[in-house]
Amino acid sequence: MITVEAAIQLIEQHCLSAKAESVSLSKSRQRILAQDIIADRPMPPYDRVTMDGIAISYSAYEAGQRQFKIESIAAAGSPQRSLEDNDSCIEVMTGAILPIGVDTVIRYEDLLIAEGSATLIDAKVRPQQNVHHQGSDRAAGSTLLAAGLVIGAPELGILASVGKAEVLVRQLPRTAIISTGDELVEVADTPAPHQIRRSNNYSLAAWLTKYGIDAQSFHLRDDLDHITETITKLLETHQLLIISGGVSKGKYDHIPTALKSAGVTAVFHSVLQRPGKPLWFGSNGQSVVFGLPGNPVSSFVCCSKYVSHWLDQSIGKKSLPETYAILDSDYPFSPDLHRYLPVLTYTKADGRLMATPYAGNGSGDLSNLASINAIMELPRGKDLYTAGETYPYYTIR
Ligand code: AMP
Ligand code: MG
Repeated sequence: MITVEAAIQLIEQHCLSAKAESVSLSKSRQRILAQDIIADRPMPPYDRVTMDGIAISYSAYEAGQRQFKIESIAAAGSPQRSLEDNDSCIEVMTGAILPIGVDTVIRYEDLLIAEGSATLIDAKVRPQQNVHHQGSDRAAGSTLLAAGLVIGAPELGILASVGKAEVLVRQLPRTAIISTGDELVEVADTPAPHQIRRSNNYSLAAWLTKYGIDAQSFHLRDDLDHITETITKLLETHQLLIISGGVSKGKYDHIPTALKSAGVTAVFHSVLQRPGKPLWFGSNGQSVVFGLPGNPVSSFVCCSKYVSHWLDQSIGKKSLPETYAILDSDYPFSPDLHRYLPVLTYTKADGRLMATPYAGNGSGDLSNLASINAIMELPRGKDLYTAGETYPYYTIR
């Protein structure tokens, strides 16, 4: 039996170093960026008009002029125009390149347009107003996105703006989720009184979609030969096997024996934690296997904590700072175990982030997970975790 800290360390020693692959921009969401993204042009690339109206030379306004003859119109998407007479103006549209000879844009709302002229209605004009200057956001050649970040909606827009039709991202491990247990039936089946529907595969697979992983799901009977044979085959094609159930001390908990026969060496078995004490982790050099205890809360907590950590490290995801919340009520817990406590977090009017414990009915209480949004980590060595104390947590939503 090892500590949570030791388990994390051992997992880190068995991470993959995922290679980079090219994917199309539209397929890159949620993936880990494997290249720095550099601005190919200044941002914005030209002096950009930000209001529909007229563009003038500020010097004419400064000299007292309030009526401007309209020389031409500059639309967004048309090449740069030039002002011919310094006392005239050009009508300009949002997004147009600022014409040569003008430096200041006055919006239509502050103008009266009649008979080919624009007259100012007593608005104050500042020099260079309503112009988004070339390179004022970022210079050409500057780093816009750093390798290691998760590509989300804003990043996708930035990638598009610099012409990345193809993006280099980290490869994802081929992943199999394997449930075990003779008591488990398909979701669509009607269970007999001694059976239950299998649910772990679905929540584990759903968790992995946040990485963009499309895991294959399998189910195995509690039969040692059948398990050994299937695992041996899956190890040839998958780099990550997530098995739920069959790792405890029961007569039919065949997973550790089967994995050994399949050539997977145990790195650890059993962690000083609740839930998820029987957690099993091993490797055969090419692939790793997580043997998660079958109880739904245990398997979910072990996946969201340990499998996630392995994935983050393997695909080079930039780690985010740890997040903390304040317990809003006492939580007594005397076993000398690291406690992954289901909690519901909320923010107080003064800005403090609080957490209400929802211990539920133990590691089999799947329905309890619907009441919570986070798992708080209470380190070993106390009997009472007191209201007002601060602990790390991670969100499951
Ligand atoms: P085990 O770890 O195999 O001893 O299973 C512990 C408990 O978790 C048992 O009550 C199982 O029925 C339950 N369990 C195991 N696998 C699943 C699964 N895929 N979905 C739902 N419950 C499961
Ligand atoms: Mg079982």
